[in-house]
Amino acid sequence: MGEEIETQVIVVGAGPAGLTAAHRLAREGLEVIVVERGPYAGAKNLSGLLYSTVLAQEIPDFASRAPLERPVSQRGIGLLTPEGFSLLCFGSRKWSSPPYNHTWVVYRAQFDRWLASEAEAAGATLLEGSVVEDLLYQEEGSRTKVVGVQIRGEEDTFKAPVVILAEGAVGLVSERARGRLGMSSGQIPQSYGLGIKEIWALPASTIEDRFGLEPGCGAAMEWVGSPFQGLVGGGFLYTGKETLALGMIVKLENMKKAKLSPQDLMEGFKANPQISRYIKGGELLEYGAHLIPEGGPKAVGQLCHHGLIIVGDAAGLVNASIYHEGSNLAMLSGRLAAEAAIQAHLLGDFSRGSLSLYEKMLGESFLMKDLQRLKNIERAHLVFPRLMDELPSRFTGLLADLFEQVQMPKQEIRKHAFQKALEGLPKFKTVLDLWKMRRMLG
Ligand SMILES: Cc1cc2nc3c(=O)[nH]c(=O)nc-3n(C[C@H](O)[C@H](O)[C@H](O)COP(=O)(O)OP(=O)(O)OC[C@H]3O[C@@H](n4cnc5c(N)ncnc54)[C@H](O)[C@@H]3O)c2cc1C
Repeated sequence: MGEEIETQVIVVGAGPAGLTAAHRLAREGLEVIVVERGPYAGAKNLSGLLYSTVLAQEIPDFASRAPLERPVSQRGIGLLTPEGFSLLCFGSRKWSSPPYNHTWVVYRAQFDRWLASEAEAAGATLLEGSVVEDLLYQEEGSRTKVVGVQIRGEEDTFKAPVVILAEGAVGLVSERARGRLGMSSGQIPQSYGLGIKEIWALPASTIEDRFGLEPGCGAAMEWVGSPFQGLVGGGFLYTGKETLALGMIVKLENMKKAKLSPQDLMEGFKANPQISRYIKGGELLEYGAHLIPEGGPKAVGQLCHHGLIIVGDAAGLVNASIYHEGSNLAMLSGRLAAEAAIQAHLLGDFSRGSLSLYEKMLGESFLMKDLQRLKNIERAHLVFPRLMDELPSRFTGLLADLFEQVQMPKQEIRKHAFQKALEGLPKFKTVLDLWKMRRMLG
């Protein structure tokens, strides 16, 4: 017979959401246990760009202590076609000095580990290499409340009046809890993007030369177009200190429908001369894949119940517009969940009514306001395949034609170039599609 271990809050998952919640709870003097299935926090994580506005509030001196690769002083949006490319590169001098526009390249295996050590230093207890199998429930009159977690292969019982579920995308514990507690799901089923990422090693000076960077500064580029064969999504390239993170995020259902393999898409992306020139001579160190919830606000269901709060990717809180922001939002939701749990402890009330302070604060935050703008993202996705395919080639074709050297008056060159670029486009449908696409800009 095992022991019954009682604490004030249990957090499931040591990603940015769970660790920020744990940090805030511990900092405010609450006893908190974080359960993480990986051998260490971040072991299973991949993402590359960290927007740090929430982190800066939680740990103001993080920039001098966290394992950050490079601040992003330069960004790029590129269109790839079989014949050519166009690339919009932009930056600002102020992005090269504190607070570096709050945009960093990080390796999550290192960053999450560091955040876990911060939470531990604040007083949280971390149980790594432990999988939460299910939640513990208790019937109280007509209501069922969550009272703890059951850890796989563990005889001890872990109990707390509040459990924060931060298990990331496609969380099985969250799914089971929703069913058992009858929590309402979103108006539409959740949909996912598949993220694939490779890490390539290159000397720092080569990276700086290839991207035209000042020593120590970084770049982040996003690419759409022909390698992705009309799928909704695109590729990315981020600079670490002595590594490049190269990957793609594409809508899973589109890929399945089109019967395309993720490996082939990734190989096609890397083989494009605009991409291969960055990784040339590099050594592939590692790669991985993960799902990302991309259904937008309509796929977000009820996030609190008696004794339970759901945060981060497990709650579907990802901004899948061109900003593609997940970690920062995970941290914000983790912090708000902690604040609601702290308030519940002060009142001694762990009911859904009390914990729904979390949903209220979330609704008032920039996170939900941004997410609300993506309420038609699924419908926008329907028109995307055509636009993703056509826009890059028409736009880069237009630029190539505009600058082609022929013995013709420039005015005629322009006329022909625009006629060619617009050829065969149904005007009304195109304007409508572009209007819907605007939704993706958030
Ligand atoms: C390829 C890729 C690139 C991305 N790029 C970016 C980017 O550039 N910028 C950005 O902001 N976001 C990016 N994201 C999204 C970002 O990674 C997520 O939004 C963010 O990690 C969500 O944080 P989280 O804490 O909610 O979940 P996660 O980071 O997924 O953490 C969940 C944790 O819970 C643990 N866990 C799961 N189940 C259990 C269980 N039963 N018991 C115990 N532990 C469990 C997992 O091991 C994991 O450590 C990217 C994602 C991918 C896949």
